[in-house]
Amino acid sequence: MTAVKRTDIVVVGGGAAGYISAIIAARNGAGVTIADKAKRPLMKLRISGKGRCNLTNNCTDREFFDNIFRGDKFLRSAVSRFGPSEIMEFFEELGVPLKTERGRRVFPVSDKAADVAEALIGEAERCGVRTVRGEVVRILTDGGKVTGVQTDGGVIDCSAVILATGGRSYPGTGSTGDGYRIARELGHTVTKTYPALVSLRCSEDWCSEAEGLSLRNVTLTCREGKKTLFSEMGEMLFTRDGISGPLVLTLSSVIAGKDYSGLKTTIDLKPSLDRATLDKRVLRDMSAMSNREFKNSLGDLLPKSLIPVIVKLSGISPEKKVNGITADERSRLTDLLKELPLTICGDGGWNDAIVTAGGIATKEIDPKTMESKLVSGLYIAGEVLDADGATGGYNLTIAFSTGHAAGTAAAERISEGLSAEKETDNTVKSMKAIAIDGPAGAGKSSIARRVAKEFGFIYVDTGALYRAIGLSAIRSGIDVHDRAAVIGLLAGIDVDLAYVNGEQKVLLCGEDVSGEIRTEAVSMAASAVSALPEVREFLLELQRDLARRNDVVMDGRDIGTVVLPDAGCKIFLTATAEERAMRRYKELKAKGIYAVYEAVLEDLKKRDYDDSHRDIAPLKLADDGIEVDTTEIDLDEAVNRVVRIAKERLGI
Ligand code: C5P
Repeated sequence: MTAVKRTDIVVVGGGAAGYISAIIAARNGAGVTIADKAKRPLMKLRISGKGRCNLTNNCTDREFFDNIFRGDKFLRSAVSRFGPSEIMEFFEELGVPLKTERGRRVFPVSDKAADVAEALIGEAERCGVRTVRGEVVRILTDGGKVTGVQTDGGVIDCSAVILATGGRSYPGTGSTGDGYRIARELGHTVTKTYPALVSLRCSEDWCSEAEGLSLRNVTLTCREGKKTLFSEMGEMLFTRDGISGPLVLTLSSVIAGKDYSGLKTTIDLKPSLDRATLDKRVLRDMSAMSNREFKNSLGDLLPKSLIPVIVKLSGISPEKKVNGITADERSRLTDLLKELPLTICGDGGWNDAIVTAGGIATKEIDPKTMESKLVSGLYIAGEVLDADGATGGYNLTIAFSTGHAAGTAAAERISEGLSAEKETDNTVKSMKAIAIDGPAGAGKSSIARRVAKEFGFIYVDTGALYRAIGLSAIRSGIDVHDRAAVIGLLAGIDVDLAYVNGEQKVLLCGEDVSGEIRTEAVSMAASAVSALPEVREFLLELQRDLARRNDVVMDGRDIGTVVLPDAGCKIFLTATAEERAMRRYKELKAKGIYAVYEAVLEDLKKRDYDDSHRDIAPLKLADDGIEVDTTEIDLDEAVNRVVRIAKERLGI
């Protein structure tokens, strides 16, 4: 559940990209809220680099881009502005001393990823970034512009969203790929995603015999037809059902998304010796131990656990005396040493993958600002993008660079928006508002809805807000007249309005209760709670904010008097209590709800009395309001009258 109702920027996802973007945006003056469903933020960062956090690579730009598999062109702008050296400076300034290890990998001196996470969290707090725990269901837009996010705890209004939900790898940390769906719903293309930097499975049974064996200075090569996709020297190891280690992780990213059955993979166990030299070396070894059995002759050439494997694969009898081995057999052995074949048949899956290959297509995103080219005010950063690199700190660098770009640009948008608002201060006041007040059953909602349609304004039914609080009180079993209990209730709930296809929905803690609030019991409860100043205060800003940002037809009891005293047109709709009770009675009957006219009339009169006699914001005609009595006229006529008055008052 979220208590935040409005902020400048919502960052969706509390990972590396999300935190840095939030900090940068907040440092640039924006009000920022991070929404994340995970219990603890930065979970993936905490376990990255085996818990040590390899946060960047201390390399040149050129070297950096040599290690990017997908998205290198797209990343150029962001990395050139906030690349490895800036990242290092950023963390050093936050009080995290760093060191550079083999392969220019940068770690905190403490070797603790948690120190990096805590530094980010501390800085975010210091900059005033708020965090809310909640799952973001969708990003709300209006006319191609971001207006807020819908979380499972309610709607948060905002002017910009930074989508930084991460990829699919390590789902245990909360990275479950929600961002892809959210982006897709907004029209973005999402390329197919694959586990990357992941161990690979091989169909050779013998891998399990070599399980745990680590090979150094070998060359791993992978070909697709005649094309060499990958050939690098380094370290790798065998697992129960395949291969892993640095070389393999890189290979997995190179071949992500490929049809594995078309690949030929080999290990050169002796990359420093060419075939002829290796052949000579084998021959020399064999003559030195000519009386040994073949299986006991390979100790100098191979690690122990690979010997039985190579023996078996060579097809040479293990017990054969070395001096009996033919030239042909020796050649087969050399072949195996230079090109030990492996058949890749799968990968270790999302639980094992360090990153995600594929994601939100970068061609739809501005590489300088990370802003979506499809939705104004939407910025996208980090692993959710279709960009990834090698192990060694490259992927966190992508997260930090793109997060930095998004945070900078989103904050700029906010400050530009503010200055535009300041310059044309009356734009706020120049939004058009039609306030329609009156007692229950006077026809407010039917008339207001049609008038809104006529002018293309949004229709805001404020009664629904009071009803939602009434419903919440009924659900919690509290006495609606018990002021302290109702105030207590307010502390734990969130009421909001959302518009779906132009229809107003009222949300109670994110739940759509638009249907459930239309009962007589809820009407009475709403009337009771609406007499409390705390309840009215609780709902006031939400109503005003809607009118600040939209042309509205707003109906209620105090719209013309309290909520929008500057509204250009104020209507007070009335009808006799008997006529209104009759309308309500017919309505209920039409819906098949049992009702007694006298009881409906009595309830209505009580509500009228309460609404117009309460101390705060009582129902009354505003000084500059116009009364429209609907007792004798039908709906069409009533709408015509209101439209006529509004045109005249608003000059439209
Ligand atoms: O308009 P509706 O009948 O849905 O409103 C339910 C109740 O909410 C009203 O009886 C009134 O007590 C309260 N209300 C209010 N101020 C508003 C709208 C409704 O006090 N602006």
